[in-house]
Amino acid sequence: MNTPIQHLSGELDNGNELYIKRDDLLPFSMGGNKVRISQAFFQDMEHKGCDTMIIYGSRHSNLCRVLSNLCCSKDVPCVMICSHEEQEDQTATNNTHLIDWAGAQVIHCGKDNIAATVSSVMEKLRARGRRPYYIYGDKFGRGNEGTAAAAYAEAYREIQDFEADQGREFDYIFCPSGTGATQSGLICGHLLAGDGKKIMGIIISSRETERARQVISEGVSDYFVKNGRTLPTGWAEEIILLDGYRQAGYGHYDSRITSTIREQYRRNSLPLDPIYTGKAFWGMKEYINASGIRDSRILFLHTGGAPLFYDFLAKEGTENETC
Ligand SMILES: *Cc1c(COP(=O)(O)O)cnc(C)c1O
Repeated sequence: MNTPIQHLSGELDNGNELYIKRDDLLPFSMGGNKVRISQAFFQDMEHKGCDTMIIYGSRHSNLCRVLSNLCCSKDVPCVMICSHEEQEDQTATNNTHLIDWAGAQVIHCGKDNIAATVSSVMEKLRARGRRPYYIYGDKFGRGNEGTAAAAYAEAYREIQDFEADQGREFDYIFCPSGTGATQSGLICGHLLAGDGKKIMGIIISSRETERARQVISEGVSDYFVKNGRTLPTGWAEEIILLDGYRQAGYGHYDSRITSTIREQYRRNSLPLDPIYTGKAFWGMKEYINASGIRDSRILFLHTGGAPLFYDFLAKEGTENETC
C-alpha cells in the first residue's frame, strides 16, 4: 500500500526541505491513517477467530467510517458504540452519513458508561452465538494497544524505502497526534530501524500531555512485547509531543488554521481539515520557525480525513480569494 511522498518546494525557510507522505490517498473509504489502522484491527479480528466487529467512537469519527465500511464490504456485522459528550454538536457530518450508509448498528452511550455498554453488547452477541471482537481490547479499552501501532510500524518501511532511493534520510517526521496510535507506530518503526529521526507528534486535542505520553508508551511497549522484541534503553525519550498548537482543544481552530488550509489548497493542492491535518500542518510550520531548525529534511504525514475537508468546505468555503 505504498503512498506517494511529494516534495513541497519553497514551503520552509532556513534551508529546510519539506516532504509530504500522502496517506490521504490510500485507496479505500476516502483514505487516511484509519485505512491502515482499520486493516490492522480487521486482521487481528480474523486472527483471533472472531466474526463480529465492535467499534467505538463519535458519529463524526474517521475510524468509525473506515471500519464500518471495511465491515460492510466484507460482509462482517459491525456494532458501533457511539459515545456522546455532554454538550455536543448535534449536526450530522459527512462521516455520520457514511457510517449510516455502511449500515453499522449504532448503540448510543454516555462518556461515563462505556465499559458497561461494551460488556452488555459483547454478552448479547455471545448469547446469539457470535464471537465479538472489540477493537480496544477489554471493556475498559485495554489490551489491544499494539495492534493499531503495528499499522504505522509497517508503514515506516515505506518511508525507509523512499530514503534508500533518495540516498538521504529525513531528520524529522511530523504528524497530528490524537489517540497517539499513528505516532506510536512511527516510533516503533524508528526504534526498530535504530535511525536518527525525530518523530514529532502535534497534539490536536485537550488531552493532557503526560496522559498522551503514557498512552503512546503503552502502544509502543505492547507492540514490542507482542512481536517478541526488546525495547532499547532510553526509548521513552523518543516520545516527542508538541502541545502548544492545540488551541482550545479538539475541533477548535482560528483564522491561522483556516488560512493555512486555503494556502495549502492553493499552493500545493492539498486537502487539509481544521481538526487534524490543518492544525498539525500549521503547528509544524510554527514550531519549525520558533525552534530554529535549519538545513533539515522534514516529512509531514498527511493522515487523511477527506470527509472533514468537505465538511469544512461546506461550512467556510464561500469566501473568495483573488488568484
Ligand atoms: C485519527 C486521525 C488522526 C490522529 O491519529 P491518531 O492515531 O489517533 O493519533 C489524525 N488525522 C486524521 C485525519 C485522523 O482521522
